[in-house]
Amino acid sequence: MAEVIQHDILIVGGGGAGLRASIAAAELNPELSIAVVSKVYPMRSHTVAAEGGAAAVIKENDSIDAHCYDTISGGDWMADQDAVELFCNEATREMTQLEHWGCPWNREPDGSIAVRPFGGMKIERTWFASDKTGFHMLHTLFQTTLKYEPVKRYDEWFATKLLVDDGRVQGVTAIELLTGQVRTIAAKSVIICSGGGGRIFPFTTNGAIKTGDGMAMAYRAGVPLKDMEFVQYHPTGLPGTGILITEATRGEGGIIVNKDGYRYLQDYDLGTPLDINDPNHPQKRNMELGPRDRLSQAFVKEMEKGNTVKSEYGDIVYLDIRHLGEEKIDKKLPFVRELVTNYVGIDPVTELIPVRPVVHYMMGGVHTNIDTFTGLTGLYAAGETACVSINGANRLGSNSLTELLVFGRHAGENAAKHAIECGDLNISALEAQAKDEQNRIASNFIKKQGGTQRVADIRKEMNLTMESGAGIYRTESSLKETVDKLAELKEKFKQVNLDDRTVSFNLELTAALELENMLELAQALAHSAIERRESRGSHQRLDHPERDDEKFLKHSMAYYNGEDAPRIDYLDVVITKWPPGERKYGS
Ligand SMILES: Cc1cc2nc3c(=O)[nH]c(=O)nc-3n(C[C@H](O)[C@H](O)[C@H](O)COP(=O)(O)OP(=O)(O)OC[C@H]3O[C@@H](n4cnc5c(N)ncnc54)[C@H](O)[C@@H]3O)c2cc1C
Repeated sequence: MAEVIQHDILIVGGGGAGLRASIAAAELNPELSIAVVSKVYPMRSHTVAAEGGAAAVIKENDSIDAHCYDTISGGDWMADQDAVELFCNEATREMTQLEHWGCPWNREPDGSIAVRPFGGMKIERTWFASDKTGFHMLHTLFQTTLKYEPVKRYDEWFATKLLVDDGRVQGVTAIELLTGQVRTIAAKSVIICSGGGGRIFPFTTNGAIKTGDGMAMAYRAGVPLKDMEFVQYHPTGLPGTGILITEATRGEGGIIVNKDGYRYLQDYDLGTPLDINDPNHPQKRNMELGPRDRLSQAFVKEMEKGNTVKSEYGDIVYLDIRHLGEEKIDKKLPFVRELVTNYVGIDPVTELIPVRPVVHYMMGGVHTNIDTFTGLTGLYAAGETACVSINGANRLGSNSLTELLVFGRHAGENAAKHAIECGDLNISALEAQAKDEQNRIASNFIKKQGGTQRVADIRKEMNLTMESGAGIYRTESSLKETVDKLAELKEKFKQVNLDDRTVSFNLELTAALELENMLELAQALAHSAIERRESRGSHQRLDHPERDDEKFLKHSMAYYNGEDAPRIDYLDVVITKWPPGERKYGS
């Protein structure tokens, strides 16, 4: 094998979290050498697709406590409140720092930061850069990393395995996609910033690269996956492609209507006792900005009543922004117009936008403590891949981009401190492990003969069983079917056959490795969901419709169990000053 590459810190992922972590590590100690490994060129990371904005307290009518409370109640009391407090306290500083690095936040006419309303946030605190917020944030972070010489990038390298020796993480193996070589990168600290895994579901806003690789790598290395049953559906995706129509569309005044043009959300409880006769009820004025889980659930109920429209991509409802007028749409929502025109072939200035709920975000992920530490010496995680947890059972829109900054920085600093203090690496042990990984990839995929299964077929079956059994509404029997199906698919995967045996950019190989990872996540998710016999946030059990704080005010922790189903354990939720209460919205 080629010689071992050595760094002090290795970051898997070049999205918002990974780049923020790399800057923090470089700033903490310029002597440290830092590697950023990314399976795509960093600017293609999913962060670039974020549209709506990033939350942080900035206006005088707002407060840290209010941001904390919205986050905690929006997450149905599943978030760790110490982590939420840290997050809300540091959010504004991070957002301002980004501005100093060049992020073009939109402004009010008086020059102050402009904010827009966002779902579940009772006070306007979502900063934005038009409706291309993620694009601008990622550019800003990317160009800032270029200032730091110690940051070395490995673009288009696909990480496959964490190398663990003597109870500590000491690096990863990664396929250099250009040459097809399996390379060893040794590092004293590793930070996983590899994003979410929404691609285990069929309809999703998530880019094709969001396959949860880092979660699977940490899971196999013994780190539990926390709260995996909580998956966020976004109520307004385009049917077919799953492309997101940002919540900012509703923040700017867009409304959702059923097949009769009726704003059906007024008939549903979006988290506050509903008096539908009161025309001034806050929910009536602002119902489209209820929490995402409640809006997606209302869609299913409306479908059951026969009030949705049948389309070739399943049932749909409509998002109406016509009344905003062309000028406002072009100023505040130009990307929405562009997407709808290009992907649906209609102009939202004059026509209704067809939408349906689509999987958007994973609240769960690699377990970390408040310091982004995973419990495995040398291993840290931040961003969507991690579960620290501030998002609880339902993330509030616009908290995620800020989370990348706050916890990305902590991960970078903590990983740097560990790299400075820890002892030397055992390079020969890493070489031996890397050799094994190289042989595994060769014998299971590249050189394998006689496989009968195709990657795309297994992936499709996985997608369908996740949607039917572990979607917006779940039951014991639907989840049992999914769990059984996933076990069957893992068996089938052993017979997978690749048509492409080439070395350079073998994307069928990476698709197979991604599918292998997704099957692990899907299993952890379905097993965590079957064990949570209550309804909370995005996890809705028709057979257990109530929240049960006595038994389930706990994080689920799924442990990898080799060939067998994962072992599910629990960890108490940290409550500081907001005892569990009723979810209220809109007042
Ligand atoms: C369409 C869309 C719109 C959104 N809008 C908003 C919004 O307005 N506000 C908000 O707060 N949140 C929003 N979100 C959520 C938010 O954008 C994401 O949660 C966040 O950007 C994730 O950032 P990340 O750094 O954790 O991961 P990503 O940006 O997904 O980056 C992951 C990185 O990991 C790398 N990687 C993954 N696997 C491997 C591997 N095996 N080997 C090497 N590298 C690997 C990838 O190459 C990539 O660089 C949106 C999400 C979507 C999908």
